[in-house]
Parts: sequence; C-alpha cells; structure tokens
Amino acid sequence: MNEEEEDITIVEPVFAPWDGRRVPVTLLGGYLGAGKTTVINEMLARADRPIAVMVNDVGDINIDAKLIERQDGDTLDLSGGCVCCSLKNGFLEAFDQLRERPTPPELVVVELSGIANPSAAAGMASTPGFVLDSIVVLVDLDQFLTFEDESSVVADAVRAQVRAADVLLLSKRDLVDQERVDVVTARLTELAPHTRVLMADSAHSTAGLVGLGVRRPILEVGQGASLFDQFQTSIIPIDGTIRRHELDELLDGLPKNTVRAKGIVQIETGELMLIQIVGKRRSVEPLPMAETTEPTDLVVITA
Ligand SMILES: [Zn+2]
Repeated sequence: MNEEEEDITIVEPVFAPWDGRRVPVTLLGGYLGAGKTTVINEMLARADRPIAVMVNDVGDINIDAKLIERQDGDTLDLSGGCVCCSLKNGFLEAFDQLRERPTPPELVVVELSGIANPSAAAGMASTPGFVLDSIVVLVDLDQFLTFEDESSVVADAVRAQVRAADVLLLSKRDLVDQERVDVVTARLTELAPHTRVLMADSAHSTAGLVGLGVRRPILEVGQGASLFDQFQTSIIPIDGTIRRHELDELLDGLPKNTVRAKGIVQIETGELMLIQIVGKRRSVEPLPMAETTEPTDLVVITA
C-alpha cells in the first residue's frame, strides 16, 4: 500500500492505539548473571494473560531471548546494543511493533541488558499506548560486592541500577550465608535508603511481583493470591467518592512495608483516578477518557 502521498486527511497528532488504553511496562534490570531470565520464564509459565517480553542483549546474538521459553507470551528480541543508550531506536520500534497489533498485551516486561541504566530506559517506556509501571532490579547476593570492587564502569553500572529501582530483589540466596545477606542489604540501604529490599528466595513470588500488571489483575488478586505467598494482601474499600486530599492522606498512611498498591477511585470532581504504588514510586493519574472501568477497592500488598 502506497497511498500516503494522495492522502490529504489530517493525521491524528497523538497516536492512541487501543482506544486510549495504556499497557503497563515493567523494566527488569540487574547486572549480568543476576537471574533475570529465570524470573521471566517463571512469570510466563504462570501468566494467565498475554504478556509481551522484550529482551535486550548488547551482543549480536541474544542468548537470553533464546532462553525465554515462549509460553503464551511473545518475545521481541532486541540485540546488538543497549536500549538505554546505543539501541534507543530499536527500543521505540519494538513498541511500534506492539502497537500494530489489534489487541494489546496486558503487560510488557522488558529484560534490560546487564549494563543498562533503568532510569535512562524508563523515559522511553511511557510512550503512546504504554505507561511505565515499575522498575524491578535483581541484585546478585553472591556477586554484588565483587562488582562494586571492579572497574569503575561496572561499579557505576550496578550502583545506578540499584538507585533506579522501585523494588530491589535479592537473588542467589542459596549461594551465600546470612552474614552476606546482611552486608549486601546494608550496602543497598546506603545506596538507596528508601527502596524496599525483598528476598527473591522463591521464584514463584518473585515472578508474581514482576508480572503484576496494573488494570486487570486488580480484580484478580484474591484468586491469584498464591502468587504472593510471601506477601500479605489487604483490601481497603472506598465507598463512593473521596476528596483528593483525603486520598493523599490515605496513601501517605499506608504501612511502611507496602510494596504494591493499586486501585481505581472516584474523586470529588467525578474523575476516576488510577492509583499505582510500586515500592517508593507512587502515581495517581486520571484514567484515560475511553476507560469504562468502575471504581475498585484499594488493594495493598505488604511484605
Ligand atoms: Zn545502555
């Protein structure tokens, strides 16, 4: 088809696929060997809805992409550069590929390259049709302190990853003793004082945390509670509308160990607001106009 030249209709300035719906994007970071692929495979094995996975590898051969067992999700292979710097266009094109689909995935999970700075990739993940949901960074208990002692390039990379995270997940627990866990946790707390650190000792619950999208699962948390075997889920009912400042106070008052909270509430202007909390990241945003969702209870997950 080559009709563009004759087409004089005005193109929509903002491309809004899927009736304005925005698909949540989770960035999964962590240095080489931290176990990102394992987590993604676990997540795909348990997913009951379509998840698109982008796998970024700086080499020309994307080994991690080959290790992803495809399951129901589909995998977009981004190799030969890093999506946070040398492969930005490839990253944006991968979102273009998804936008061409008649139905959106429920969630996009991006396995970042081992050297990627998640902060740099985060800005690109909120693009028409998509919204950054969370940055989860895996920290290899066995290797982290060694990485910090290595060349400044490696040390800078792992520190940037830790600082960018909404949630830090400790991996390789079986390779270290408790003393190492304590030392690494203390170091992470120095680097990122307000970020929750969780043990990824169960691939099961880790996958649940990473794979938890925004919209649909809010109604499914009860049924899917087994995904959160190391977490507590509680429900805060919100009847009718709530004033915006009361909502902020309510969110301020959530327990310190809240790792995830979400809900759709109606505020006094009549607007429906989508609440998402992941670790230290909190967003309260109006739902897109096309949404026909009803308000929900506020679901709070604590560790
Ligand atoms: Zn990069």
